[in-house]
Amino acid sequence: MLSSSLSQLEKESPAYICPYDQACSYLEEAAKELKLDQSILEVLSHPRKVVTVSIPVKRDNSQVQVLAGHRVQHCDILGPYKGGTRYHPAVTLREVSALAMLMTWKCALLGIPYGGAKGGIAIDPKFYSVGELERITRRYTSELIKDIGPAVDIPAPDMGTSAREMAWMMDTYSVNVGHAVPGVVTGKPISIGGSRGREMATGRGVMFIIREALADKGQSLAGARIAIQGFGNVGSAAALLLHEAGAKVIAVSTGSGGIFCEDGLDIPALKAYVAENRKGVVGFEHTTPISNADLLTLPCDVLIPAALENQITEDNVNQIQAKIVAEAANGPVTLVANQVLESKGVTVLPDILANAGGVVVSYLEWVQGLSYVFWDEERVNKELENLMVQAYRQVMQQSKIRQIPLRLAAYTLGVGRVAQALSDRGLYP
Ligand code: GLU
Repeated sequence: MLSSSLSQLEKESPAYICPYDQACSYLEEAAKELKLDQSILEVLSHPRKVVTVSIPVKRDNSQVQVLAGHRVQHCDILGPYKGGTRYHPAVTLREVSALAMLMTWKCALLGIPYGGAKGGIAIDPKFYSVGELERITRRYTSELIKDIGPAVDIPAPDMGTSAREMAWMMDTYSVNVGHAVPGVVTGKPISIGGSRGREMATGRGVMFIIREALADKGQSLAGARIAIQGFGNVGSAAALLLHEAGAKVIAVSTGSGGIFCEDGLDIPALKAYVAENRKGVVGFEHTTPISNADLLTLPCDVLIPAALENQITEDNVNQIQAKIVAEAANGPVTLVANQVLESKGVTVLPDILANAGGVVVSYLEWVQGLSYVFWDEERVNKELENLMVQAYRQVMQQSKIRQIPLRLAAYTLGVGRVAQALSDRGLYP
């Protein structure tokens, strides 16, 4: 099923790393470590439901374009499916399937009662007007109307989407079922039941995990030198919070290039600059330009890849000089590169732990919505901190007890909890 969606181009590219195969190898490694029953591994290797819908959209010039929209529901053993909706040109069914599986382990690792899902449409939102994006989002939602819902599958923002798209999804779903259903999505605007703190949550979670990892090395955030690839929702929030905690963010980048400043960037001023010029970070005062490739190899305490997958590979891993790599993006370090970094004593904080802050506050948003009681931001941030720090400690402990790298430790915890639930629930019929 998935192989049929792999385009000829993808198959022929020598550098192509199939994200679904990569996700399955992580699962297999964890299953081996846990000595899982083969039949459990077999069940967990397959998504439970894969949906692809056609989205006919009338462009502003009146032409109709038909897009493919995906939603993959990997596993709902622990609760409703949960995961973001991605608008990015590189979206494929294989990538969405891999990310849906990652969401299953991420939720289980953080101890939140969800299964994993992911959705996506292969578009570059830059080339669509707001009206077109609204029509695409509404049609995508209505095509999925029977597959989503507050007890079934709860989408959220991901790369290329935000609270705006969630509001359109919530409205489309609600109009179709005949009453307001805020719980059908998370990451929505506060005016319709969104949670305080959700927008910064992934970046805040990254900051908590880095703070803990530095503390374990006897270092604090104050004065730590940090390079960040990516200045979108996650990268920019992490940059701001790290800056506020006294760290020196020495370099950041976007797809159009990066900037470097030995003494640390003025992140609030940089955020204002980016909001105004809308063309990325290059040109910001008192900085030197730096390429995305060179940013990754800067000498620093912490490197945060917060953009795309497969950024640290066999080709550049030997040039990495950071002591800690925190995976704010999904899968930025390849399997082989991860092994090389581990062997050199670099701490790699795995994605399913480091970038879990978003889904944690999604869960807090869902809980607030279900109980009709809304919290202040301080409470949300504190609950987030507790869950992130708890998961970090569990991963560290698991790594120590089993003598395994952090990624494998995180996977054994996530996969182990789902496998336990699967065996307790049993197989129907
Ligand atoms: N897109 C985010 C993630 O991949 C958040 C998902 C959610 O909040 O459901 O973790």
